[in-house]
Amino acid sequence: MILPKSTRLTTAQLNEVTAIVSEFGCQIQPIIGAVRSIYAIVGDERDELMINRLEGLDYVDRIDRIQSPFKLMDKRSDLASHRITIGGVTLGEELLIIAGTCTIDPKNPNYFYETAAAVKEAGAHMIRGGVWKPRTNPYTFQGDTKSLEILLEGARRTGLPVDTEVMEEAHIQLALDAGVNCLQVGARNALNYSLLRAIGRAVAKRETCVLLKRSIHMGAINEFISAAEYIAAFGNPNIILCPRGTTPTLDGYRNHPDESITPLLKEKTWAPVVVDPSHSVGKASYVPACALAAVAYGADGLCIEAHVSPSHGIGDDPKQALTPEALAMTISQAKQLWALRRGGKIG
Ligand code: PEP
Ligand code: MN
Repeated sequence: MILPKSTRLTTAQLNEVTAIVSEFGCQIQPIIGAVRSIYAIVGDERDELMINRLEGLDYVDRIDRIQSPFKLMDKRSDLASHRITIGGVTLGEELLIIAGTCTIDPKNPNYFYETAAAVKEAGAHMIRGGVWKPRTNPYTFQGDTKSLEILLEGARRTGLPVDTEVMEEAHIQLALDAGVNCLQVGARNALNYSLLRAIGRAVAKRETCVLLKRSIHMGAINEFISAAEYIAAFGNPNIILCPRGTTPTLDGYRNHPDESITPLLKEKTWAPVVVDPSHSVGKASYVPACALAAVAYGADGLCIEAHVSPSHGIGDDPKQALTPEALAMTISQAKQLWALRRGGKIG
């Protein structure tokens, strides 16, 4: 829909926009109003080149699109009935719980094995553990490829699927060859389009899931869904969106909690939403409330950092990991809330 700056286009302007859209197989249908006129683009209006050409005309105020720019991730796409199943849970039918350490300590693998067993006992369906870590400071522990074996040993011991973050292209194949079930794209890489493409290519024709975190730089919801579209475009739609907090605006929080974007995402995309309350707030004592808020807002699952002995953890664990007891309590309350929501008792 073309909205001109003036009340209507002149004949010369109408001829120009008609010529542009016809290059892309579209036509213009003027809608003449008493006060101002607008011009519908009839045909497939998603071509960016066409939109850019029209937006560049100095007499055009803006272009409003009726069709979604997301061919696959849009709620009205053919994929809308796609369901993702992992760890025995079909998203949307049961609350998915992903839990485990922020970072696997390769020198003390028992902490990971014990945590894996404890989070399973607490009710988790998938175990998380960071093998390679994006760290703000280059001198802090950056992860270790050796931890991949520890992650998979945790999977063998518990029988649960595992999730880990891949930060660069070389990690993708290593993780897939080892048998990682869910590749995590971290907040820092959610706008790294070459990595998203590489992941999309690598997971095509596989059952693997991708947990896509929201970048702190993603202001618009569309940017988040577009990042998922990059991956889905190669043929694997097992993509889970993960809000994890944005730029901190309040003292005391590590990030600004953003679980409230869940209903906005659900208005636009069919993709399941699994909220990460741990990075959203960054403090163990605040995590349970954020987890419950996420469920109240309609999240399909939670991704929570937990450790059998948080003070012995590395990475984020000393500050934000829940103990197994706190995790079990949070999971139990979250499941009750999810059941109430599903039953239409709240929300
Ligand atoms: C993590 O999951 O440990 C992590 C680093 O997450 P994020 O990318 O959300 O910061
Ligand atoms: Mn972490």
